[in-house]
Formats: sequence, C-alpha cells, structure tokens
Amino acid sequence: GRIIDSQCLAVKMPGPHSYTGEDVVELHCHGGALVAHLTLQELLAAGCRLAEPGEFSQRAFLNGKMDLTQAEAVADLISAGSEMALQLANQQMQGKFGRRLTEIYHQLTEIRMEIESRLDFPEEDLDWQPPETLRSSLSMLGQELRSWSGSRRQGEILRHGIALCLAGEPNVGKSSLLNIILGHDRAIVSETPGTTRDSIEVPVSIRGIPLRLVDTAGLRAAGDSIERQGIERSQQNIAAAAVVLWVMDAAGDLSAQMAACPAAPDKVIYVANKADQLPEAPSPLAPSEQLVYTCALTGEGLEQLYDALEKKVWQGKCLSENEFAVSARHAEALEKAAGNLQEAVEQLSTESWELAAAALQQAQTALGSITGQSISPDILGGIFARFCIGK
Ligand code: GDP
Repeated sequence: GRIIDSQCLAVKMPGPHSYTGEDVVELHCHGGALVAHLTLQELLAAGCRLAEPGEFSQRAFLNGKMDLTQAEAVADLISAGSEMALQLANQQMQGKFGRRLTEIYHQLTEIRMEIESRLDFPEEDLDWQPPETLRSSLSMLGQELRSWSGSRRQGEILRHGIALCLAGEPNVGKSSLLNIILGHDRAIVSETPGTTRDSIEVPVSIRGIPLRLVDTAGLRAAGDSIERQGIERSQQNIAAAAVVLWVMDAAGDLSAQMAACPAAPDKVIYVANKADQLPEAPSPLAPSEQLVYTCALTGEGLEQLYDALEKKVWQGKCLSENEFAVSARHAEALEKAAGNLQEAVEQLSTESWELAAAALQQAQTALGSITGQSISPDILGGIFARFCIGK
C-alpha cells in the first residue's frame, strides 16, 4: 500500500525471444540504493528469489539459446580488462568458435558411422573411403584443434591480465612513471628516498593488454621496519610479476644498476629513466634491445617502452583480427581431443576399426565438453559459479 517509486518501467519479454528463452519481466526503478533495496525486499516478500551467479546465462544455455562457449564469453565480456579482451569476448559470444567445433563434431560422427558400418557389415563391399583418406582427414582436424590450443597463452593473458611490476632503487622515478602511464596522480611522488612504503596495484590497459600495474616500495637495504616490510613485499611482487620494469637512473652506472635487478632477466625490461638529465641524447636502440630510455616528466620514451612491453608479453605471437584465443579449459579439452584423433589415426593404420571408433568417440566427448553438448553437471555448475550474480 505504500509507494516506493512513483514512476518505474516494466518490460515484458516473452519467450522464446528473451535472453533466457523464458518469459521474463524486467523492472526498472530509479537508481539509488534505497529504492532498489525496498523494491527487491517487496519482490522477495512476494515469493521471488535472488538469481544464482550466472543463472540467467545458465538458463539461456540450458534452453538452447547459446552454446557453452557463448555463455562463457558473457563472463569474459563483463570482466574484460582491455579493448582487445572485449573484442575476443564479443567474437566468442557471436558463436564462431562453437560453430566450428560443432562442425568438427559432426564430421567425426560421419567418419565414425563409416567405421562402424565396416564393423557391422565386414563382408559387404560398400562404397567405403580408403583408410588413408580417413587418416588424413583426422590428422588435419587434429592439427586444427592443436593450433587453437596453442593460443592458450594469449587467451589467458587477455582473460586474466598480467601483473606488471615497476621496481628499482628509490628515487629513480618509479612513481613518476606510474603516474605518467596512468595519466593522473595515483602514486605519491616525493623527493625523499624511501617514501613509497606500500605497493600500489592499478588495473590499466596498454596497447590492448590488460595489466595489473604494481608500483613497489624502492628496493633499498636499510630503512626502518615498516620500510623493510615494504621492501619484502616488493620482492614478492617482483617474483610474482610476469613482466618487471626495472627502473634505473639513466645518468648513473647502467651496468651496475642492471646487475642489481633481482628478477630473472627474461622477464625484465630495463628502463633508464631521467634521460633528460643525460649530457647528450642516447642513441636510438636496436629493436631487440631490452633497454629503453624514458623521461617520466615529459613522457618521452613511453612509446618505445610500450613497444618493448608488447614484444615481451606476446613473444611474437600477437592475435590477429578474427583469431580465437582459447581459455585454459578449452585448451585442455582441445589437447585431449587432438590426442584422441591421433590415436584414431594410429588405430586406422592397422585397421583396428573398433579401437579407432572408440578413440573418435572420446574426441567427440572432449569437444562436446567445450560447447556443452556433453558435460557433467558439476563442471557446468563450476563454470557458471564464476559469473556475477544475476548475469
Ligand atoms: P621513486 O622513488 O622511484 O618512485 O621516484 P619518484 O617518482 O618519487 O621520483 C623521484 C624524483 O625524481 C622526483 O623529484 C621526480 O620528480 C624526479 N623524476 C622522476 N622522473 C624523472 C625524470 O625522468 N627526469 C627528471 N629530471 N626527474 C625525474
């Protein structure tokens, strides 16, 4: 009998054309915590319940509105940390990956039917393909699956981002670099060495790479106990980071500073900052060089730093447009299916039809676990549990 919101909108979306495929009514009330809270309370009192994480997408999947790769892409879309990650999620949501897998699934069904008919009618001379043809088709499909599972690293980077750690001696300009990378004053910049006591972690996207940028307390031997704790934490950050920007003073002894870096050299980009203080401009560096000169006050050298970062992160295997980059879950199933296909190829070479058919069936089960055609309820539950509530 009382009014919570005197103007709201109710949108009726009849199935099967709604997101879940079911009849849905969406209530839109005015923003603000109290209006939404009271509306929700009334709905709950009237017998509604809150959705489980990912329940809408799960219903959409169970009602055949999308395959599992598309439903998973919804979660990727929501958590995308860069435009490249967003593009990947959108592409997967459009269903191209799932459709190709379904095509392969059906191709395998056909090959299996042929093999099984040989088992059922061994005497008849039906119009069978020679085993070599079957073997080469299966090998090609196996290669295709393997090439996708090879994109796992890119897929993981785009889905989960990577930790990039800014580290170095105090006062070399780490905080200033962080600020100019972010374009605003997030970290405290100070002229007294050792004032960045804590690590700061900021999500940032550089050249489409989703990063968690960590600025650490300056690495310095002495200091009070709070500073020592900060230094310990920064050593942990350096160890955990995928890429370390080791910041140095360009005017100082570079080789000594490089040698002081505690991280494994293959994950380090050496940044000679304060390049503006050099008596003469540094010579342009060969592209393979891991050393970049920057000036954190003007932003000079940032583009070269980003080039070096891109190179280090993608290791020459950047995604081109319209390419898939699979998740760890997909990669595992793809590897499994490719292994099964390999086994089928080997069984066919000795005309072990029965074993070949069994291997093909296993490959199909693995592929079906990606698209959701064959998947156990507990794995399905685990996939949707990582969604946000109500998505
Ligand atoms: P951090 O301790 O490594 O985080 O260093 P800060 O970012 O706090 O910088 C220490 C001092 O160096 C500050 O006074 C900065 O303004 C200055 N600084 C940082 N980067 C540069 C640079 O590229 N050129 C010059 N001339 N000064 C810089």
